[in-house]
Amino acid sequence: MSMINKKATILIVDDMSTNISVLYDLLCDDYEIQAATNGEDALAIAQSAERPDVILLDIEMPGMDGYAVCKALKNLPQTKEIPIIFVTARNSPEDEEHGFNLGAVDYISKPFYPAIVRVRVKTIVDMKLKNDLLEELSMVDGLTHIANRRAFDETYLKRFRDSERENRALSVMMIDVDFFKNYNDHYGHGKGDECLIRIAAALNAVLKRPGDIVARYGGEEFVVLLESIDYEGNETVAHHLLEAVRRLQIPHEYSSAAEFVTISIGIAVKTGKTTPETLLKHADEALYRAKNEGRNRYVYYAESVPPLS
Ligand code: GH3
Ligand code: MG
Ligand code: MG
Ligand code: MG
Repeated sequence: MSMINKKATILIVDDMSTNISVLYDLLCDDYEIQAATNGEDALAIAQSAERPDVILLDIEMPGMDGYAVCKALKNLPQTKEIPIIFVTARNSPEDEEHGFNLGAVDYISKPFYPAIVRVRVKTIVDMKLKNDLLEELSMVDGLTHIANRRAFDETYLKRFRDSERENRALSVMMIDVDFFKNYNDHYGHGKGDECLIRIAAALNAVLKRPGDIVARYGGEEFVVLLESIDYEGNETVAHHLLEAVRRLQIPHEYSSAAEFVTISIGIAVKTGKTTPETLLKHADEALYRAKNEGRNRYVYYAESVPPLS
């Protein structure tokens, strides 16, 4: 959403319409307001074209409660960046900690003092709009500080054309963290973010040649682009990438692949008839196979394997 001359949108979620009215009166002069009286409606609005900039979320609601809504929002790529502020009568430190663990940015206890709510909401809206703007301009992923998807997409097409013109090898590795939903669910979203930061740094440290690229492709997926590298070279790099993440030894009790956090890798190599799109698709298919074959491993896309000699 562009932030020039446009009011930010706030979604208020509360099962009691009287509570919605109070917040509405407090905020309607400064923001566009959306409202939902249950978790399901909140999720639908958050995924709609009129996605809110910030969500004020009640915890105690019949059916899906605020914690479940927060968890669901953080698990969806389209909604996971929306800042969530819990507004709730539950005010024990444990409740508050739980809210932050689920990825909320603020926690306002009821009864609240209206002027303070207004200021806290404004601070978070300003932060959100600034982040959006930076994201729009940036080539660097905000969380992991490696190249972002936009940077990759731009470089990728250029490199692909260069490799065709100069008749150089080009390979893509799609990387996905194993059982990462379980990781978030059990250790909390904050720990999940920390984990992604460490994985990104570890992957980045493996790639030493100037032309090599590693980028955050989205969520918990990374992509690696390698030039002028043969079959054995790819194997060596893939092996080092797997090892680099294993060596972090980030405990993951809820993974069926290992006792530590691991990744799976799909590798595809450009051949005569590959297009930029199919090369990525092939790497993705190989990744899918690596997952099916047990994770914590790399798999080559079939056509990328040299014939036996
Ligand atoms: P698999 O081994 O098959 O890959 O299982 P998985 O659970 O890793 O796969 P799935 O695609 O179902 O889950 C990806 C999860 O990654 C969903 C979401 O909880 C988490 N995730 C995506 N982006 C982020 C992020 O920026 N931060 C955190 N903490 N978690 C994220
Ligand atoms: Mg309630
Ligand atoms: Mg994934
Ligand atoms: Mg995964």
